[in-house]
Amino acid sequence: MSIQWFPGHMNSAKKQAEEQMEFIDLVIEVLDARLPEASCNPLVDRMRQFRQRPVLKILNKIDLADPAATAAWKAYYDARPGVTAYPMTTKKPADVARIPALALSLAPHRGVPTKPLRIMIMGIPNVGKSTLMNALLKKRVAKVGDEPAVTKTQQKLYLDKHTVLVDTPGLMWPKIEMPSDGLMLAASHAIGTNALIEEEVAFFLGDILLERYPQLLTARYGFKTEGLDGIGVVEQVAARRGFRVRGGEFDVEKAAHVLLHDYRSGAIGRISLETPESRAARLEAHRIE
Ligand code: GDP
Repeated sequence: MSIQWFPGHMNSAKKQAEEQMEFIDLVIEVLDARLPEASCNPLVDRMRQFRQRPVLKILNKIDLADPAATAAWKAYYDARPGVTAYPMTTKKPADVARIPALALSLAPHRGVPTKPLRIMIMGIPNVGKSTLMNALLKKRVAKVGDEPAVTKTQQKLYLDKHTVLVDTPGLMWPKIEMPSDGLMLAASHAIGTNALIEEEVAFFLGDILLERYPQLLTARYGFKTEGLDGIGVVEQVAARRGFRVRGGEFDVEKAAHVLLHDYRSGAIGRISLETPESRAARLEAHRIE
């Protein structure tokens, strides 16, 4: 399996972001609330810590995430120095409207016309940066799309007299240390679906759903989950939906596509792929390997 995690334009984006860090007061890092650590680029924290800039970690897309997991992630991040977490969805104007005041409270020495608050929005592709910018500016300034890495050029925009936004292209890290991060990102469409085999991603998702949300699987598709594994979940989706190829075999490819689509659209329910505890367990297992 060959995945190009770090396209050329992202290399230059990293350099640009590093240089910009000197001239900004606050980083707004947009994460996917369903997979905050898997959708976090460690470079962002390294860059901002070097310049001692505070960060507002936006846990975006909470409309799709498990509220209990989101609350656990907020507590997890808020305990870190210089970090404030803000769970929200760009779909709610009231959530977006709270951001300027929140941002100012994290860099109170700025925010006057002579010293405007300078904010850099960062994050990996498809977490919702462009949507957030558009919502903040209440007009379309950046192209919004469901394909990764739509934002390619840097923009500087006045939110109001006291606040300047700098947008950068989404950043990805050169190497994903844990394969599960790549699979979570692929499941959530943060990386191109053609980059990974869809079936493998669906089996992985099936395993997580079995472990954490079996009742949602039963409610959506009507099968019992006892004794299944991730592959079994996808096969059961095929069975229940009557997806078969010629010869009567399950059409696993089609079922995988449907399972992923249903997860991404929220049709299965509000699902988080990781919690602080499951993250710690994965890291520990990875360390031992
Ligand atoms: P960017 O690559 O980080 O700039 O991401 P975009 O702003 O292009 O958003 C990627 C996709 O996520 C788009 O389809 C958006 O409509 C969607 N999106 C953004 N914010 C939210 C949210 O709060 N909830 C949901 N359900 N979808 C969102």
